[in-house]
Amino acid sequence: MLNRQSDQRPVNLPVNSFLIVTLGCFRNEVESDLLRSELAGLGLEQAADIDAAQVIIVNTCGFIREACEEGIDTVLEVDRLTRDRKPRPPVILLGCMGQRYGGELLENLPEVSGVLGVDWKDYLLEALAAVTEGKRFHRTSSVPEPCCTARNVDSSENATIFIRIADGCSRGCGFCTIPRIRGAYKSRSADDILDEVSRLTGGRDREIVLLAQDLTSYGTDTRSDTDLAGLLRMIAELEDVRWVRLLYLQPEGVTVELTDEIARNPKVCDYFDIPFQHASRDVLRRMGRPGDGKSYKRLISSIRKRSPGASLRTTLMVGYPGETEEDFEQLERFIMDIGFDWLGAFRFSPEPGTGAAELADQVPHDESVLRYYRILELQNSIEASRAARLIGSSTEVVIDGASQEEGYDFVGRSYREAPVIDGLLYLRRKTEIGRQATTGDFVNARITGLEGLDLVAEI
Ligand code: SF4
Repeated sequence: MLNRQSDQRPVNLPVNSFLIVTLGCFRNEVESDLLRSELAGLGLEQAADIDAAQVIIVNTCGFIREACEEGIDTVLEVDRLTRDRKPRPPVILLGCMGQRYGGELLENLPEVSGVLGVDWKDYLLEALAAVTEGKRFHRTSSVPEPCCTARNVDSSENATIFIRIADGCSRGCGFCTIPRIRGAYKSRSADDILDEVSRLTGGRDREIVLLAQDLTSYGTDTRSDTDLAGLLRMIAELEDVRWVRLLYLQPEGVTVELTDEIARNPKVCDYFDIPFQHASRDVLRRMGRPGDGKSYKRLISSIRKRSPGASLRTTLMVGYPGETEEDFEQLERFIMDIGFDWLGAFRFSPEPGTGAAELADQVPHDESVLRYYRILELQNSIEASRAARLIGSSTEVVIDGASQEEGYDFVGRSYREAPVIDGLLYLRRKTEIGRQATTGDFVNARITGLEGLDLVAEI
């Protein structure tokens, strides 16, 4: 067993530099920052590029087959890029895919030297010592312990900071592997979260994006009386917090108190990301989820009553076992009736180990693909008319970076758009303030036109 010599790095780690490749969701960005601070604590430095890295870590996603295929493709690409190097940098695969498949990955992927799961923190040093001696190493706990550590490194290059307020999930949606990968739901303490936000804002105005598999269960697993609305109030009172945005609200957890707090609090974006998954009661029950199209419509109208300008995002799944043409048409009518600002559509994927993979009445592949594209087409028309209605209006935007598109200075977002998953605004500098503005600034913008489904605005 290797001992850490107090703040000195372990004596026999023959490497100085690392490279992390992050796959998957925003939560993995947070996980990679935690990894960065852990490796820095061991005295390793982040390499400038893959050629300079002496150990390479692939932080994976594992909740559906496509994500696992991307993990394998990444490992093979790293192998192709490093196979001629002497000594060859060992590759450690960790995170959700490591947790889900564990030792199997070591058996089937000779390109990988080490496999760790979601509790990689407990075994990182041991793994590094083993793989840098040319040994192979695997350690994943049978009962994953959600990672609720505060981090002191934030690698985002603009004003947005992702904060994970809880990990794991104790719901049991029939199609989902996450509870088995990340464990039961676990909230972080409010003090810990507030401390992390204060530490990472760094004296600049910031957009704080709160993350968890299920934000709305925050605090339900602890004796503390701080629920999500309470936590929102406390974060919004912190200095340098300009916007607070919520991702992944489970429908039945969106309370009147929460919608009131979002509507009342000027710093909280009127942005509701609620993954309804479907609208047919039969399909939702087969998924092991409560609610239905009618109750969801009531929820949306209560949100819009309190926040008339609310931006609504959802995630929907087509092709779930037993989904009939009638169920699907119900879903189409639901999308038309609500008119979501943003929509992420998924085709059902029968994941080994989930209840849904064993269900009868699996929907034929071609039918599921057809339904998927019908949803996308419908949503594109909704987004096009929604975007056109915003021309001529003004809004505050955050500048995310320089525009890669010719004819524009920056790209940015208003309260209506979350980073990466939603659309954006192409920004032209027209005013004195606009001419002074730079990445990370919050400025006023007047929407003047469209660039495809995205907006064009002047600052
Ligand atoms: S709430 Fe989300 S993370 Fe939890 S089981 Fe359902 S789909 Fe999976």
